[in-house]
Amino acid sequence: MKRFAVGAALTTVFLPLLLLCAASVRFRHAPYHPPAEAESTAAKGRLRLTYRGISGYELTDGKTVVLLDPTVTRPTVWDLFSRRLRPDEALSGRVFPRADFILVNHAHYDHAADVPAIALRTGATVVGSQSACNLALSRGVPPGRVRLAVPGERLTLGTFTVDVRASRHIDLLGMKGLMAGTIAPTAGPLWFWQYVQDAALAYRLEAAGASVWFHPTSTFKRSELGDLPAGTLIMGVNGEELTAERMRLVFAEARPRLILPTHYDNLFQPLEKGLALMPGLDLEAARRAAQAAGADVPWRVLDYGQTVELPAARPER
Ligand SMILES: [Zn+2]
Repeated sequence: MKRFAVGAALTTVFLPLLLLCAASVRFRHAPYHPPAEAESTAAKGRLRLTYRGISGYELTDGKTVVLLDPTVTRPTVWDLFSRRLRPDEALSGRVFPRADFILVNHAHYDHAADVPAIALRTGATVVGSQSACNLALSRGVPPGRVRLAVPGERLTLGTFTVDVRASRHIDLLGMKGLMAGTIAPTAGPLWFWQYVQDAALAYRLEAAGASVWFHPTSTFKRSELGDLPAGTLIMGVNGEELTAERMRLVFAEARPRLILPTHYDNLFQPLEKGLALMPGLDLEAARRAAQAAGADVPWRVLDYGQTVELPAARPER
């Protein structure tokens, strides 16, 4: 009995500690410098996209500012398991000084944790699934500035036209339903695993003669994007492996002139340390898959703070 108690104590205390130590070593920072790629020669629209880490971007045509999954709060593995998440409002204020609309792919902390504070400070409208909307409401964003996005609908957001489509989140740790659900509109401070998602949404944004698919998940199902081409495709590379076959399906629908992989950085390290790749992610294999699907489509890995001017969509078939 005593031996059992000692064994149980070792398992409940030391095993998690050991796992945390192992995770901290695995997710340590290793600097990465994206290769300098040639600029796309396609005609440019006047849409500018700036990368802000994980799948976070600022997109503007000079009139309307749209933020996509703006996230600066990046707890270490230790932080995640030792305390509830504390959004870094000072940092989000510096990185995202302005916004008219904030589009959320899904409500997990690495896509949505900073959204309420940014919306409260800038007066932006939050657009997303029910869980993302409820997260905003729970932090005091007024209901009039929270907009439920429904797959299949077309929204006018300032000078942008936005098409909403359903995408699919990967099964975390191979388990269906892990970190899935809907955040309550009355939620208080949350542990990271309580930032649950009820839907992953893809958005096609168009303004100033250019268009972009924001598809930060790595999953893809035929007809997901419909027959809606865009000049640029932002495609998630973290999670399921991007195969050439999958990329061919994506390219057949999106028909991009430029592909920007996303969600490739080590999100367990702070922004100020600079770009590091997510350990275990084979970005080169993802690039090869994309090149197999469209050899003429430039693949550009953006560094933090890097801005690109997005090309216009290909002419209609
Ligand atoms: Zn997620």
